Amino acid sequence: MSEKQVVPQESLGIIGDKALEMPKSLEQLSESEIERKRCISRVMTHMLKYLTGEFMNKGFEWLLPAIFSKSTDPLWPDPGASLEKRIEVEIYGETVRTTLSMIIHKMVACSLVHPKLFILSPNVRIEKRERANTGINAYEFHQLDFEVRNATSEDIRRFVDEIICGSISSLKKHMNDELLCLEIYHSLKVSEKPFRVYDREDLESKYGKDWEKQITFEVDDPVWVTNIPREFYDFEDFESGKWDNYDLILPKYGEVLSGSRREWEYSKIVRKLERDSVKKENYKLLLKLAKEGKIKPSAGAGIGVERLVSWIVGAKHIGEVQLFPRIPGIVYDL
Ligand code: ASP
Ligand code: MG
Repeated sequence: MSEKQVVPQESLGIIGDKALEMPKSLEQLSESEIERKRCISRVMTHMLKYLTGEFMNKGFEWLLPAIFSKSTDPLWPDPGASLEKRIEVEIYGETVRTTLSMIIHKMVACSLVHPKLFILSPNVRIEKRERANTGINAYEFHQLDFEVRNATSEDIRRFVDEIICGSISSLKKHMNDELLCLEIYHSLKVSEKPFRVYDREDLESKYGKDWEKQITFEVDDPVWVTNIPREFYDFEDFESGKWDNYDLILPKYGEVLSGSRREWEYSKIVRKLERDSVKKENYKLLLKLAKEGKIKPSAGAGIGVERLVSWIVGAKHIGEVQLFPRIPGIVYDL
């Protein structure tokens, strides 16, 4: 264990062990609180303009999200997942699920249509209600989710280093009034590139099972963690047991991005679905395409928009950066 800082077991988040004040809904805010919300929204607008602009400059196609599909991310097995409920509804006599992430759509679209694509998509993850207290979980959030045919993990990480640093420089240049109003202009700094890369196994030997919490509170700059055992679509080398995947961890705010090089071989996908007890019938199209050799090697990731903005503005709770908060266990009118 690190002697530097021990964080509470229950929470991975900005609050430590104190009870966290939950964000208010809009009509309860004072004038100055409204002003703060306005500045945060303006920072988010600029952030999205910068990031989507960078994707388009680099030749990515911008796709619109799907909400209900037969296949979505299983979010299993995933050390970070904690769902209270999975939403399945019937439409036209078929069972569909709300989007947990656009990963399956990305793999198919990237293989068949666009070699470089991104989607700004809502993800509905009904997190356990205790997660209200982490301060970093919302039951609806948005990912800037992207995928690149034939890319390596290193390509994706370098690209993300660029756009995260670039977005902060751009905010400092164009949003100085808002950053001053939020009292973060002087403390907001552009980290050095490339961000450091850690192997999860090394972190586990140093910190134990709690490595993610510990590293989150120990670093001052974003860092990469690679080789994390999780969902079937992340590439796993069966011989070495290493996973060619990555998370980007933000100081105090935790994982803001996860991604990987993808599995594309039918036999490996089937073997992993069976091993993880994930229902094959929920991935029929992906399996059919993989069997026909139509799924192409790719790599990608998804950036959690609200969490990224929370880190930039130093939000007390992720609900603060949502005009209409989506906090686990709390359902507001809007
Ligand atoms: N966006 C992730 C990816 O590209 C999937 C996830 O949400 O974990 O792998
Ligand atoms: Mg994932």
